[in-house]
Amino acid sequence: MPLPEPIVSLTAALSKLPGVGPRSAERIALHLVQAESAQVRHLAEAMLAARERIRFCDICGSLTEKSPCAICEDTRRDASLVCVVEKAVDILSIEKSGTYRGKFHVLGGKISPLDGVEPDDLRIAELEKRLGTEPIQEVIIALGTDVEGDATSNYLAKRLARSGLKISRIGFGLPAGSGLEFADELTLNRALEGRREMN
Ligand SMILES: [Zn+2]
Repeated sequence: MPLPEPIVSLTAALSKLPGVGPRSAERIALHLVQAESAQVRHLAEAMLAARERIRFCDICGSLTEKSPCAICEDTRRDASLVCVVEKAVDILSIEKSGTYRGKFHVLGGKISPLDGVEPDDLRIAELEKRLGTEPIQEVIIALGTDVEGDATSNYLAKRLARSGLKISRIGFGLPAGSGLEFADELTLNRALEGRREMN
């Protein structure tokens, strides 16, 4: 006997979530249809509320309830430093490492011609605008160490080059071919401290 249609639809929707394969999706769907109705309603409402209340910061591109975000508005942070990351969640990784006190800029991806991601698809123009309006003296590129991360870092170093601006890249000790989410706090700390100038 096939599963009832609502369970099949729910399974299909869940399997589109990151890290949820078809088997997990079916297990979650079967759990939900047998759970307390109030519990499922609470989950659905929490998902909707989070989606509706969270937006991107107009300046740095981080996830926030209000724009500009708390980091962009924090005058105690060092406005001469901007750390460029691929994804909004990478900010959390660096914040957890605890020593970085500058600002951030989220690119929203990496240059990848094979996947159709061109420089114009990333928040590079927004970063250039910040270089003109904020007292930025150093751009720290904190992208992953895979091929796209290397290509994007080199592209940025060339495109952002201007007199009086230092451009550096973290890398020391980062696992080869991976993103920031796989590095522990100590490794990220060392990678930040051991950043190398690119210009
Ligand atoms: Zn911000």
